[in-house]
Amino acid sequence: MQVVRITPRGYCYGVVDAMKLVRQVAEDPKTRKPIFVLGLIVHNRHAVEELDRYGVVSLDGENRLELIEQVHEGTVVFTAHGVSEAVRRRAAEKGLDVVDATCPDVTKTHDLIRNLAQDGYTILYIGRRGHPEPEGAMGEAPDHVHLIETVEDAQDLDLNGKKLAVVTQTTLSRWDTDATIQELRRRYPHIEVFNEICLATQLRQEAAVHQAENCDLVIVVGDTRSNNSNRLVQVVREQAGRPAYLVDGVHEIDPAWLEGKRTVGVTAGSSTPSPITREVIQYLEQYPAGASADPVRA
Ligand code: SF4
Repeated sequence: MQVVRITPRGYCYGVVDAMKLVRQVAEDPKTRKPIFVLGLIVHNRHAVEELDRYGVVSLDGENRLELIEQVHEGTVVFTAHGVSEAVRRRAAEKGLDVVDATCPDVTKTHDLIRNLAQDGYTILYIGRRGHPEPEGAMGEAPDHVHLIETVEDAQDLDLNGKKLAVVTQTTLSRWDTDATIQELRRRYPHIEVFNEICLATQLRQEAAVHQAENCDLVIVVGDTRSNNSNRLVQVVREQAGRPAYLVDGVHEIDPAWLEGKRTVGVTAGSSTPSPITREVIQYLEQYPAGASADPVRA
């Protein structure tokens, strides 16, 4: 099978730095133990298992305010997705040491929301309900921010006459948000738009769409909970018109997808460790082009 290694793919700068920081903290004898990560450091099982080996406890759950109530001593790590001011306050009240692995791009969005709120804006935040990033970002100015997933969500709000701004979650796709933003502009011509989709996300999506054009299908390596991995599948299907599948590892590849196929593209979400993607690439490279069965596994 010919494999197109879609580039760039995999770990972004925010995830690389977050993983490095937690490893350093875990190895530092001065760190107060135990060490808890508030949520999964990134949405990837393999990355979380790596931190397990350092003795770091990952608290699984998306609501950071609930999770912090489970921590009574030691050190707490804020993940790359960021946390709200309320979580920071609670950590201080509990006397916990804090390690902040928030991605600088997420921090930039937090600062933006705080400044807009101070300037009297009502903010529409386009994001995924239940994902930790909106929770943290909206927590900067809870009385001024409305979470919307689609333009229909905004239609119930009475926004006329208000100073309006729209801000996006960092890991969405511009194709998705463009439609919502266009509709918001039509309804509220004075709305100010702040596209906060991060560069790492944009570059991975654009590469996947362009390089998928030469492929029969695309395999995206990533966790089902990873928003940016799911968006990669979506943009390949919707923008490149190619079949795309999300797999957590080589064991999830269905041979039926490969039947009769000659060229497969491989990409990976920003939270997927490279060794997992490498295994997938090696498996596919050994797979005979145009095969109708699964000779590698047989
Ligand atoms: Fe930061 Fe973007 Fe990576 Fe998220 S996907 S950690 S915002 S660089």
